[in-house]
Amino acid sequence: MVIYGQRAAHIGTAPSQNGVCPNCESEGTIAYSYFSRHAHVFWIPLFPFGKTGAAVCTNCQHTMEPKQMPKLMKAEFKELKADFKTPIWQFSGLAIIAGLFGWGYFSAQQTKANTQEYVAAPQMNDVYTIQSDDEEYTTIKVAGVDEDSVYIYINTMAVDKKSGIYKIDKEEYYLDVPLGVQHSYLDSLYQDGTILEIERE
Ligand SMILES: [Zn+2]
Repeated sequence: MVIYGQRAAHIGTAPSQNGVCPNCESEGTIAYSYFSRHAHVFWIPLFPFGKTGAAVCTNCQHTMEPKQMPKLMKAEFKELKADFKTPIWQFSGLAIIAGLFGWGYFSAQQTKANTQEYVAAPQMNDVYTIQSDDEEYTTIKVAGVDEDSVYIYINTMAVDKKSGIYKIDKEEYYLDVPLGVQHSYLDSLYQDGTILEIERE
């Protein structure tokens, strides 16, 4: 199975104005064919890397690569090549990659905005991801809210990777008795970076 490689797409043909076939010596029978090359991965065009082409005599089928063309023909070949654009679809892979980065950035910004909003107005069952140490992460869960306080369940477990938080966000790991803290205390935990993220269902 071919995972990656390169291909060339035909992007156009142009007749030569003054080329003479070096093989059969016919006049006005030379045509240039142009191709745009692209790298592909899993059949998705990743990015284009240049245009190429050849001259063909329509009379005798003699074919010439650019380096085999007589000097004048080569110049004409180059000049006409500029008229044929790289097709936009050859940039598909780059567009997808740019899109993924864009999406990653967007969702990171969204999480940040949500966290800020949620910490200002806690709700029951909000789960806070907490950095409890340099290399330790845990969670707290909101048990209830009143005017003065936020009541939180403390998680008794910790993990060493933020991405592993889902493993310990489980009912049985939280202390049964909630702890009351002031709203301003949660704010300060958010301000100093202890609260990393808040998940709300
Ligand atoms: Zn010919």
